[in-house]
Amino acid sequence: MLISKEKREAKTHYNSATKKKQRFFKKMSLKDLLDILSFKRGTGSVTEMLCIEKHIDVLNPTFIDGYGNRMFVIEKSPNADRKKLVNLFCCHTDTVHKTEGKQRVQYDKDQGIISLRPEEKDANECLGADDAIGMWLMIQMIKRKIPGIYLFHRGEEQFGKGSKYFRDRHAHFLRSFGVKYCISLDYEGTNTIVTHQFLSREDLYRGQRTRTCSDAFAVKLANYLGFSPIHLQRNGIFTDSASYYGIAVECVNVAVGYYEYHKPTEYVITADVMKALNGLIAYCKAEIQ
Ligand SMILES: [Zn+2]
Repeated sequence: MLISKEKREAKTHYNSATKKKQRFFKKMSLKDLLDILSFKRGTGSVTEMLCIEKHIDVLNPTFIDGYGNRMFVIEKSPNADRKKLVNLFCCHTDTVHKTEGKQRVQYDKDQGIISLRPEEKDANECLGADDAIGMWLMIQMIKRKIPGIYLFHRGEEQFGKGSKYFRDRHAHFLRSFGVKYCISLDYEGTNTIVTHQFLSREDLYRGQRTRTCSDAFAVKLANYLGFSPIHLQRNGIFTDSASYYGIAVECVNVAVGYYEYHKPTEYVITADVMKALNGLIAYCKAEIQ
């Protein structure tokens, strides 16, 4: 197809402006992720709270419950049917840090890897990508106004104290939105969807896992996420989505690109994180039509 010189020039200008914008956004949002990781967010610590105020409260949560869980409801449009918000996305703000304060992190641009700076590793703390990555992904989706319900939980590292608190008091509220799928963004590695979890500490002691998600849904979600080869994890442990078993039809945990969690050697592969973000957006766009 022929294209006029003016149109060609306008198109070139548009493309370079868009690319510039995308590059700027990528740089800015990566800065946000590095900043979240610089806070040691041990459960209930002052620095966990400071991070929440700086990165989550600034976005204006729809609801904050008595435990400090933050909920966002992003509607399709102001007059949309709120019973059609089928996706509940979950992450947690706390980590297994034993001390409070800030820590230094590094980003290797060539390899696209984020980790603790070498001088921090002697402290025997973690990077806290579990679950800074889930937080960051949800923040990106909220900023892009992707319809859904978003829950930032407290106390996940204490066997889901925050999510259990929310479930016990607000199940009816959640059901009023028509929630069907509960998707935790809180699993290590990539290409993996967790289908089986322990529902309680007692189940963990007994070694008794429950299937919280069908293979059909897990594979469908994995395909949107571009996971290949798809790994369905039958040996999941626990994350917040298990607390919503019985409320949502499918409760999963998705691999979001962090590795060696809870260790000083914990690291992030940013390409895997971006794959998760793009895949989640593709899934939402397809599911909401
Ligand atoms: Zn976690």
